[in-house]
Formats: sequence, structure tokens, C-alpha cells
Amino acid sequence: MNTHDSRRTFLKTLGLVIGTLAVAPVLKMQNVFAAEAKKAKGKAPAKAAAKSAAKAPADAIDPKTNVTAKALGYVHDANLAKDRTNKKSHCGDCNYYLGGSAPYGKCQLITGGEVSAAGWCRSWSAKA
Ligand code: SF4
Repeated sequence: MNTHDSRRTFLKTLGLVIGTLAVAPVLKMQNVFAAEAKKAKGKAPAKAAAKSAAKAPADAIDPKTNVTAKALGYVHDANLAKDRTNKKSHCGDCNYYLGGSAPYGKCQLITGGEVSAAGWCRSWSAKA
């Protein structure tokens, strides 16, 4: 193997590593949605939840790793929230949701990514 071959091999390997690192967060979020969909089996999923799960952005909040989301019991699918007493409440109609009518948007309380409009957490507050 000459210098050109080893450099070429190194660059190919580097490209594979960078490509894998770029795709890993998206795959991780797909696993989160798949797990939530599995939990929701048997319940009628909200149309908004199904729609937003299909179009989850790469920076969607991961409720398992985001400390604030975890503390507030955030879930991507409000139907899965055990503490939700108002069965119609969801991020899309929360006072803290900044996404307008978009399926995902920023939350004033949970930072570091976007929450699902179909999601919910214990700090839900009706739009003023
Ligand atoms: Fe959703 Fe509102 Fe909780 Fe933010 S505060 S995660 S917008 S319910």
C-alpha cells in the first residue's frame, strides 16, 4: 500500500465517521418516536401527533436526555401524558409555545430544541 492508497483509505474512513455522526441524532429521535408509538398502541393517536412524528426536526427535544423536559414530564404525544387532566391540552395551544401553527416549535420553558405541537408537559398553561 503506497502513501496515496493509505491517504485515500483514511479519507474514506473519515467521511464514513462524519456521515455516521451527522445521521445519529436523527436516528435516535426516530427511536424515541417509535417507542412512544409502541406505548400508544391501543390508544387513538392524535392526528397532530402522527403528523408531527413524521416530520420531527433534527433538533426535536429528547425527553429522555433534556433535563428540563424530563423534570416537566414532557412527551411528544400528549395522549401518553399520565398527569394530563385537560384531555384537550397540548403544546400547540400552550401559552409557552412559540411555534404558531407549526408542528414543532420552541418552548419558552424547555430550551435546547423544539417541542412537538402535539406534545405536553406539566407546565402547560392555556394561551392568554
Ligand atoms: Fe409544551 Fe407548554 Fe410544556 Fe412548553 S410549557 S412543553 S409548550 S406544554
